[in-house]
Amino acid sequence: MTGEPAAQPLLQMALRVEQDIFVIRQRGREVAAVVGLERQDQVRIATALSEVARDLLGTVGGADVTFHIDAGADGRYHLLADLAPVTPLPDGQYQPQSGAVSRLVDTLGVATVEGVTVVRMSRRVPANAPIPTPERLAEFRSELGRIAPASALDELTAQNGQLIAALDEVRSQRDELAVLNEELAETNRGVLALYNQLTEELEETNRGVVALYAELDEKSAQLRAASESKSRFLANVSHELRAPVTAIIGLGRLLTDSASDPLTDEQGRQVELIRSSAADLLNLVNELLDLAKAESGRIELDLSDVDLRPLFGQLRGTLRALATRPEVELVVEEPSAPALLRTDEVLLGQVLRNLLHNGLKFTERGEVRLRAHQQGDRWTFEVSDTGLGIAPELHDRIFEEFYQVPGATRVGGTGLGLPYARRLVTLLGGTLELTSEPGRGSTFHVSLPVGGA
Ligand code: ADP
Repeated sequence: MTGEPAAQPLLQMALRVEQDIFVIRQRGREVAAVVGLERQDQVRIATALSEVARDLLGTVGGADVTFHIDAGADGRYHLLADLAPVTPLPDGQYQPQSGAVSRLVDTLGVATVEGVTVVRMSRRVPANAPIPTPERLAEFRSELGRIAPASALDELTAQNGQLIAALDEVRSQRDELAVLNEELAETNRGVLALYNQLTEELEETNRGVVALYAELDEKSAQLRAASESKSRFLANVSHELRAPVTAIIGLGRLLTDSASDPLTDEQGRQVELIRSSAADLLNLVNELLDLAKAESGRIELDLSDVDLRPLFGQLRGTLRALATRPEVELVVEEPSAPALLRTDEVLLGQVLRNLLHNGLKFTERGEVRLRAHQQGDRWTFEVSDTGLGIAPELHDRIFEEFYQVPGATRVGGTGLGLPYARRLVTLLGGTLELTSEPGRGSTFHVSLPVGGA
């Protein structure tokens, strides 16, 4: 470290014998007090001075001590104490005996002052201390001159006092620490108790959730079993019914055949009634069989690249026969080419036929329309009508088996068409949704992936 001190020192003194150490310590503290260092810092710099003085007396036989005030690079004032050794420092170096000494001051090391190597220590003067103008410095000097140097014994007494004060402070800090520790331990106990309580509650909740899941698993297993036996029952019963019902229809046809014995008008009407009831029954049985098959997962998809235009043409042809009301127009919009989709053509045809048929059944005037468009990786089919419409609270129910909107049943049907259609659409990897309001018609939306299920 190098640096030129202010021209005129605040104080100068010599270190030659043991007693000088006490004087340097005491004067150092006084200088620190005069320039405005706080009490603690006064003791710190005085202690550092006496330690360094003891070192130098032992190694180089003494030193000349000078105190200055200097403006530092940080714009703040520093109290400097230079100890110029009476004989050169070994290797021009200085290392305090106790490493702790350098922590008492801001800097401690060797510096060259006017060609002489000195040991220099510095401590920053607090910002609120009076600015050391030349007048103030002159005042400092005369003040220091007025203070008579005390004896070594006085300094020892002062040093003892400082030691006691420092000890007191350490003790009170230790007491504060003990209180803080106690508080911390208390808080820890509280946190631990809370943690334990929370853990217990969590475990309790977990046990509840686990039990609930077990119950849920059991219930869904029961439901699955019930649904499977229902499908099995439906399939068996329908299958068993189909043969006799077909036989009844056949017999009815035989009875009314022109080759058979003629029937009276009344007999003819009754046989016709039996035949049409049997036909309804066969229809129901067939639908039940279809649904049971779809539910039991026994439908195998036959995927192919389907061109929608011929499929739509076919639908237009077959459904025209069902559109018997002149007030209702059936519109099947030609999809814009190319209209390709990977799906099961037969199942898609069944779904659309079913929806169009429903539209025709429940529309008294206006139109039933089918249109399709592709958006991204999905095809959407819309079957809309200008018919009765369906109240929002029934939008889910109409997809339940056998559900028919009250009052709308006069047009016939089984209540199995929509649940079946939704099953098929799900199998095809898509969704079947409805938007409708009473009196405003209905639109069924079928959305299918372009690339197949
Ligand atoms: P079904 O038509 O054989 O009765 P569905 O499952 O196809 O059975 O339909 C269930 C019910 O949903 C129908 O009975 C009818 O009340 C109602 N519904 C279906 N489609 C329409 C529609 N387009 N407009 C008004 N109501 C409809």
